[in-house]
Amino acid sequence: MVVAYIGLGSNLNAPLLQLKKAIHFIANSKQVKLLQTSSFYLSKPLGPQDQPDFVNAVMGIETSLTAAALLTQCQAIEEKLGRVRKQHWGPRIIDLDILLFGNQKLDQLELTVPHPGLVQREFVIYPLLEIAPNLILPDGMPLQKQTKSVALNGLRKLAKDEWEVACNV
Ligand code: ATP
Ligand code: CA
Ligand code: CA
Repeated sequence: MVVAYIGLGSNLNAPLLQLKKAIHFIANSKQVKLLQTSSFYLSKPLGPQDQPDFVNAVMGIETSLTAAALLTQCQAIEEKLGRVRKQHWGPRIIDLDILLFGNQKLDQLELTVPHPGLVQREFVIYPLLEIAPNLILPDGMPLQKQTKSVALNGLRKLAKDEWEVACNV
């Protein structure tokens, strides 16, 4: 069994609802056990700014799948939720990125872990820190230390009384 972390993001079609659905589907996948989910966060989009803010979260799982099989599973869930690929870093119903897969390092176009964005993107590193404060990255760097060099860029936790709004945008 390997502990893996998945980053979730959405800025279309009731983003919070999409994240909740994706968490449900991943948690109920064969050979996957849900360990933790972070709070939901609001973040600024990466790249093109003429799109809605994102809702993000990170989940920790334990799995007997290989990293490649987990990616296939995540892509099937993206498809099931209706993701259509148009613009690079454009608006999307759901994005599921494998952030970490145990201590494995993979450097292929189809699957790079740790995810190259992990160490500089506030919307993945802070939610990850929330659920895994003592995590050591595969290169030996404590996550807590790495996070210190990443600016919040407006990232904030979505309060529970904002959930209804985020479910309806
Ligand atoms: P970014 O990867 O910069 O966050 P993105 O999430 O918008 O960008 P996508 O269009 O969702 O990019 O995915 C492009 C490709 O990235 C996918 O086809 C997938 O094979 C590949 N990929 C490489 N490493 C990973 C990973 N760790 N998790 C998910 N997809 C990955
Ligand atoms: Ca992504
Ligand atoms: Ca992706």
